[in-house]
Amino acid sequence: MKILCLVAHPDDETVFAGGTLALLALRGAKVGLVCCTRGEGGEAGEPPLCSRAELGAVREAELRCAARALGCSSVEFLPFRDPDVGTDGSLYPFAPSPEEVVPRIQSIFNAHHPDAVITHGSGGEYGHPAHLLANRACLEAARLSGVPCAYTFSADFEAHPRKRSANRDDPADFVVAVDRTFELKLAAMECHRTQGALFVRRASADAGHPVPLREVVLRVESFRRVATGRATETAAPDMLSLLGDAVRPD
Ligand SMILES: [Zn+2]
Repeated sequence: MKILCLVAHPDDETVFAGGTLALLALRGAKVGLVCCTRGEGGEAGEPPLCSRAELGAVREAELRCAARALGCSSVEFLPFRDPDVGTDGSLYPFAPSPEEVVPRIQSIFNAHHPDAVITHGSGGEYGHPAHLLANRACLEAARLSGVPCAYTFSADFEAHPRKRSANRDDPADFVVAVDRTFELKLAAMECHRTQGALFVRRASADAGHPVPLREVVLRVESFRRVATGRATETAAPDMLSLLGDAVRPD
């Protein structure tokens, strides 16, 4: 079974779906990553691990490191630049509209013929415009290319461990307990060295006290199944059966 995970920035794949991707790879699926940008506009670390000009290349290498940790077999980048975060903290999409992005994604889907795609949720997790754009463009490309099945991550459920980044309009169809691949997910998080301080800072603010990276990494990941307009009866149970006893309905 071939699965592609499409995200806006290096690190989204690990933060939101890393344990599940690792579990799918461990159980024989061919898992590929597609990243819309190289995260050029993000943070470079505290203290900075590289110059702003080097950040894209450094984050590309970080994503390749994470892909190895998770057992992914391919990494591809779309040719979009991640806009810099505004001085007031404003976030921006990497293209003006999905129309610019959809054909790029379609050409990757048409080359790989994935059985399923995994991408951002309809709320962009915490409303990030680049995540919202990736969600819309990926689902539209999946429909146009006839990908049998699409899933969005960080779907909402009552006991979601990080409500701030749950997609409120995407009720979870299933939740995956990723204890079995937790160490692989943690290793992938550690690959994203430029983002480590940000991960810890956000989680510490949420918790109200300093937390180590190990405690930033979630042990459950949640997904919503999205219709792509194609028959999904054969493909969908396939991915779920690979995840097996790690899945619980929600
Ligand atoms: Zn992101």
